[in-house]
Amino acid sequence: MKQISATELRPFIRTIADYPRPGIQFRDITTLLGNAQALRATIAALAAPWADAGITHVAGIEARGFIFGAAVACQLGAGFVPLRKQGKLPHTTVMVEYSLEYGTDQLEMHADGVTGADRVLLVDDLIATGGSAAAGIRLLRSLDATVVGATFVIDLPDLGGTARLEQAGIRTLSLVRFDGH
Ligand code: AMP
Repeated sequence: MKQISATELRPFIRTIADYPRPGIQFRDITTLLGNAQALRATIAALAAPWADAGITHVAGIEARGFIFGAAVACQLGAGFVPLRKQGKLPHTTVMVEYSLEYGTDQLEMHADGVTGADRVLLVDDLIATGGSAAAGIRLLRSLDATVVGATFVIDLPDLGGTARLEQAGIRTLSLVRFDGH
């Protein structure tokens, strides 16, 4: 199988203009997921910088963070913890509410998903404003876990999310950057 490097991943991401609303450039990762070499290269590149970071758990944000997060967890020899939309988890949960452009949203995880002994890597497909990642970090920290870092396939740096996480002391990495939003 031909090897693809992390710097060659950009063409595997499809951009859909004006989805789901006018003015949004939707970065569609299903085209990357559907290519065996690109998928393998993505998981390897997401995991590699954290190989010696003592990660015990990867936390993935619903829903696309589950796809990448579980694979990265396997690569790192770590467990996987889902951060979900409200009302989806069956056991006792902790919840955070965070602001969206219009209104608020909630993120939940199981209260026993991580402990103060755990070192966690947060994973999602894309960081824009960083609102959902910051909410995930608040959840994990509310359970006293150490959030070692955050990693994304795609960064939209103009929306400020990476700068926001770095200011909060979270090492933040991504594989592909797109200007604008
Ligand atoms: P944010 O909380 O603003 O950093 O937004 C990140 C979340 O929204 C991620 O879970 C992404 O999947 C999704 N998202 C935001 N903007 C886009 C975009 N332009 N294309 C695809 N997904 C996006």
